[in-house]
Amino acid sequence: MSANDAFHIAVLAGDGIGHEVTPPALEVLRKVEATTPGLKFRFTEAPAGAEEYKATGKSMSEKTVKLCEQADAIFLGACGLPSVRYPDNTEIMPQVELRFIFDLYAGVRPARLVKGAPSPIVGAQEKGIDFILIRESTEGLFASMGKGVVTKDEARETLVVTRDKTERLFDFSLRLAQRRKKRGKEGRLTLVDKANVFKAFNWQRDIFNERKPKFPDVKTDMLYVDACAAMMVKKPWDFDVMVMENMFGDILSDLAAGLVGGLGLAPSADIGDKHAVFQPCHGTAPDIMGQGKANPTAMILSAAMMLDWLADKHDLPAAGEAAQRIERAVDKAYETIKPMEFGGKDGTAAISKAVLAAL
Ligand code: ATP
Repeated sequence: MSANDAFHIAVLAGDGIGHEVTPPALEVLRKVEATTPGLKFRFTEAPAGAEEYKATGKSMSEKTVKLCEQADAIFLGACGLPSVRYPDNTEIMPQVELRFIFDLYAGVRPARLVKGAPSPIVGAQEKGIDFILIRESTEGLFASMGKGVVTKDEARETLVVTRDKTERLFDFSLRLAQRRKKRGKEGRLTLVDKANVFKAFNWQRDIFNERKPKFPDVKTDMLYVDACAAMMVKKPWDFDVMVMENMFGDILSDLAAGLVGGLGLAPSADIGDKHAVFQPCHGTAPDIMGQGKANPTAMILSAAMMLDWLADKHDLPAAGEAAQRIERAVDKAYETIKPMEFGGKDGTAAISKAVLAAL
């Protein structure tokens, strides 16, 4: 798109609370659009997920995939329902399929403690938590998905890391640390691995050392994943940006979400060279769907991440500033609201209203 055109956003609300958290986030985007010169959106909604599979036998139609391919960004609610499964008993997960279709290798999982949100870590509100975990999303142990070999006596799954994807992932992560530095953050990238045990991670360390001179202003360090898990609990404020293999990231990103108050507050992005999907970390939450209890904050913060990515990709600083305005509005809203998931009385409508008012 050219800077004067509208950003075309493919909107896949999905299933369960995906339908409840998507409209408030779109309302927030409409509000920043109205107050940001040069920023325009065109939303096209399409079905995807378990309900779609039940109706058509496919998690996503070809038309939906085409829409995603042509759009400037993909905005996804949550997909899958425990009661709807493929014949092999696995859940319907178009969000994972999209990662492979569009080669979305960088799973970006920010952990930022909103003032007023409960963290289980003592001192977190005073010291603040604000780091980004980047999870490789297309290979690692997940390369073995569906290919594991299980016999009566043995089970094998194989971890695969390739030079091409590792280089792209490290360049992406170094660049993200560099962008954070420009915004007054530390600008340090930590490589998290298990290089003391596996050759594959030692080899990745060599690639890390090859790539980092291209970003001389970014500080780097390396940490074993077990030590990293302990550090995340003891001193989460010491991290800035970290990058890791898929399975390590799968586990530690849930820990990161737990540090900053839980799933209702955790946004995410899966980013490739051309395409990107923005979605909350949470699932479809069948236990609360249809009750007005879903917290839309993670979806709203995912919208902010989408704006920030579009700003960088299309060199439109106003979109990046709009993203920061959304984050600040969320912070302000949390001065007065207490979501139901934290034992408060505020559900989807009240939280949305407070964020919109703060904007
Ligand atoms: P998936 O496997 O699809 O990622 P999950 O097993 O992680 O899903 P979720 O659907 O994310 O499960 O729900 C986990 C718990 O968190 C549930 O009790 C759910 O109600 C709660 N939860 C998730 N998202 C939200 C939200 N946005 N607001 C309030 N509670 C939420």
